[in-house]
Amino acid sequence: LFITFEGGEGAGKSTQIRLLAQALQERGQDVLVTREPGGSAGAEAVRHVILSGAAEHFGTRMEALLFAAARSDHVEELIRPALRQGRVVLCDRFVDSSRVYQGVTGNLEADFIERLQQVAVNGVMPDCTLILDLPASVGLERARQRSAGPAENAPDRFEKEELETHEKRREAFLDLAEREPLRCRVIDATQPREDIARQILSMVETLLPF
Ligand code: C5P
Repeated sequence: LFITFEGGEGAGKSTQIRLLAQALQERGQDVLVTREPGGSAGAEAVRHVILSGAAEHFGTRMEALLFAAARSDHVEELIRPALRQGRVVLCDRFVDSSRVYQGVTGNLEADFIERLQQVAVNGVMPDCTLILDLPASVGLERARQRSAGPAENAPDRFEKEELETHEKRREAFLDLAEREPLRCRVIDATQPREDIARQILSMVETLLPF
């Protein structure tokens, strides 16, 4: 079972992934938690480049290709083997982030992005995608508070963008969910985290062969 988490900055993806992983492990599932960009050794190296200062020399097209290269490595090295072993894979961001960040707000043609995704995932698509939805202003405020904490939570360059850009991404994620209602579920991420976790777990339980 392959589940991806999507949403804007500060939506609470990593918290919810952690809570879901715990709940599934308590139910005896073998869970792999991973993230994008990154996940495999090669893809983590690419993440480092994409999120570093070097990236200011990259156009969005090059960036999209790098994300796709990282995704391909992640799928072949980590995700596909884990799914073959019957593990539950929980991934923080996947193809929908590319559609939204590089496609919609990166102004790249949808067709270019789709072709890249096809090559990168090579047949491995999520069974379920949970879109954590909240107003961009609320998410950014949360992300700001988080970045006041430890250095590894410092804001990356994506978090410094205009509110308008973040709102556009929110709409884009909601559009994707409407276009693929069987795969995507929108979750109201302004709710208390325990409530969100309960909703997610009950949804995921329907997908598991207990
Ligand atoms: O999930 P997280 O917010 O930590 O992702 C790291 C950054 O990479 C984000 O700020 C996001 O904007 C960016 N990203 C992107 N395109 C993707 C995936 C992530 O621009 N396909």
